[in-house]
Amino acid sequence: MRIRFVIPTIDSMSERIIVHPYIYILATSVKRCSANHEPRTLSIKIPRLLLAELISHALQDDPNESCGLLLGVGEIADEVHRMSNVNVKPISRYAMQRGELLEAQEKAKKSDRAFVAIYHSHTFTQGYPSKTDIKNAVAVASISTRHVIISLVEKTRPVVRAFEIDPKANVTELVIKTDGEQYRASD
Ligand SMILES: [Zn+2]
Repeated sequence: MRIRFVIPTIDSMSERIIVHPYIYILATSVKRCSANHEPRTLSIKIPRLLLAELISHALQDDPNESCGLLLGVGEIADEVHRMSNVNVKPISRYAMQRGELLEAQEKAKKSDRAFVAIYHSHTFTQGYPSKTDIKNAVAVASISTRHVIISLVEKTRPVVRAFEIDPKANVTELVIKTDGEQYRASD
């Protein structure tokens, strides 16, 4: 099942927000079996203003990849924490700075929150984890196994997708839940 949400123009949040008339958020429902063979849907909740912030960050750093963390509790994000991309090839790779990561950990700990997901952008490719992304995700599985990718392959239609990448490199797409009214097909 594919769900397409349409988010209206956002121009009042802050001057950091870049206005785009149509922002599409694509989420694909994936079910998998848990230990007792009950199918369950894996999801992540990212409120709309945070989705806008993720897209805004990606557009500001374009053509370089943006990266950062979603802070929150459980699978519910409540803050976008931007990080510097310190990779030597930021146009196609990302790397977080260790010092910044420790600061973010401290911030989360102090506020009784955790890292809900790691995010980064793809400025020229689709929003699916690359082989490098999967390899890196396995290496940082202790930080978070959820990964959000913002694709700017179509600059006027950024696409946000989320995945769980477990320590064995299994990739499962997550449903992105958000707040507010969901997309409705016109009559
Ligand atoms: Zn990537």
